[in-house]
Amino acid sequence: MKNYAQYSFWLETAGDLTPRPPLDGSTTVDVAILGAGLSGLWTAYHLLKRDPSLKVAVVEAEIAGFGASGRNGGWCYSGFPLSPKHLIKDYGVEAARAVSLAMFDAVDDVGAVCAAEGIDAHYRKSGTFEIARAEHHLPVIHEYYEEVEAIGLEDHYELLDARQTAEHLRVNKAVGSFFIKEGATVQPARLTRGLAEAVERRGGVIYEQTRVTDVRPGPNPALVTERGDVTAKVVVLCGEAYLSQLPGRSRQIMPVTSHIVLTEPLKESTWEQIGWKERQVIGAYGTTGGYLNHTADGRIAFGPYRGGYPFRSRISDAINLREEIFEHGRRSALDWFPMLRGVRFTHRWGGVLGVPRDRMPTMTYDRRSGIAIGSGYSGEGVATTNLTGRVLTDLITETDSDLTRLPMASHAPRPWEPEPLRWIGFKAVRYSLGRVERNAEKTGKYPEKPTLAQRLWRS
Ligand SMILES: Cc1cc2nc3c(=O)[nH]c(=O)nc-3n(C[C@H](O)[C@H](O)[C@H](O)COP(=O)(O)OP(=O)(O)OC[C@H]3O[C@@H](n4cnc5c(N)ncnc54)[C@H](O)[C@@H]3O)c2cc1C
Repeated sequence: MKNYAQYSFWLETAGDLTPRPPLDGSTTVDVAILGAGLSGLWTAYHLLKRDPSLKVAVVEAEIAGFGASGRNGGWCYSGFPLSPKHLIKDYGVEAARAVSLAMFDAVDDVGAVCAAEGIDAHYRKSGTFEIARAEHHLPVIHEYYEEVEAIGLEDHYELLDARQTAEHLRVNKAVGSFFIKEGATVQPARLTRGLAEAVERRGGVIYEQTRVTDVRPGPNPALVTERGDVTAKVVVLCGEAYLSQLPGRSRQIMPVTSHIVLTEPLKESTWEQIGWKERQVIGAYGTTGGYLNHTADGRIAFGPYRGGYPFRSRISDAINLREEIFEHGRRSALDWFPMLRGVRFTHRWGGVLGVPRDRMPTMTYDRRSGIAIGSGYSGEGVATTNLTGRVLTDLITETDSDLTRLPMASHAPRPWEPEPLRWIGFKAVRYSLGRVERNAEKTGKYPEKPTLAQRLWRS
């Protein structure tokens, strides 16, 4: 059996990881869910809360939280994979506003369920800082603010100058920041595994160590495994990046890695220099950009923005362990906080997130095939998965609501290009985006108009 604790610091400190029993022969339920990550578990949780008589089974290849849900940066915030600018363009102002409001609710629902179910996931709603670490980042954060003004939600955000930012935390080179009030920090593996237990308390069954090998659509859809089939009225696919490994789904989603390095617990005197007392999640762009978390036990987790795409979407443990990315992360962390010199980095890990071709998540239920899908968050799934669970619950229980009118509820994922185009395209876009950042650091400004790579990546 795998040593699951080695897959992230979060899993290592999430309690007992002994797998639950696998599926033992074919069975029939009302709803069969592939994947015990946050998408699958939020869907199971909200379905069972809505209708406790439902028979819900979750089928998981490894253990709950094995995927991105047990390895991420712990940003449980209202950021949606497509920013208001893109949502307005594709769906209009009202829809863009509705998505943002639904994301605010998602952040709060995560906290409310943690409190109601006694999940000790270190949830703390203290907001999110996007930090400008160079003058040329300032117009970018001002543009964020204009986007939220365009949907009338600017009260939930603030623009801070260098001095105001330093009142919260001292980040080297910070010249300002964009503060998002609707954001929380979580210990993601504790959240996922606590949610799994809450699902079981409500009568759901989770089969671990049971890999789905195929999905059978139709009037009695089923998850097919080597240990038997789980036949249901509705099958829900919540495998995110791993969905690309299922027969016929290789172009549905692109698996992209993300990596994190973690310091030892810092001394009180170091925290005095840094500030950051409220443990907001923080991030910044640029060549030393990344997403950061101040953990409950006083460490800094730093996730450099340097993911990779494995040729032909081949997911393996090896793609998560890229020493050059970890080293870049450690160097970048020192660039942010020079007072970390001499501090030990005790952990490093990576995981795969799923990127859809148009960056838009899918939260749909197709009654004809009996298949529901909750996936496509890029790097912004911690709170978004909660929304998935609530949207899918309304769709599956035929509850007409504001949630079922969100654009994700009728979205059809656009397929990625076949290989080798997909791999070449990813490399080219990543290279161009990196060049834009490097040039901006030299010249002090970004190109006036978005480059082709920025338009393709919808950044
Ligand atoms: C390193 C990293 C950092 C991130 N940081 C953040 C962050 O700070 N904030 C944020 O919002 N988002 C972040 N993300 C993204 C976020 O973690 C994901 O969007 C979210 O966890 C997706 O949840 P999920 O349940 O859909 O997928 P996953 O958590 O990947 O779960 C899918 C599950 O399905 C199982 N599975 C797959 N295939 C099969 C099969 N054939 N049969 C049975 N089971 C199967 C897997 O084992 C897995 O447990 C990050 C991702 C990574 C990798």
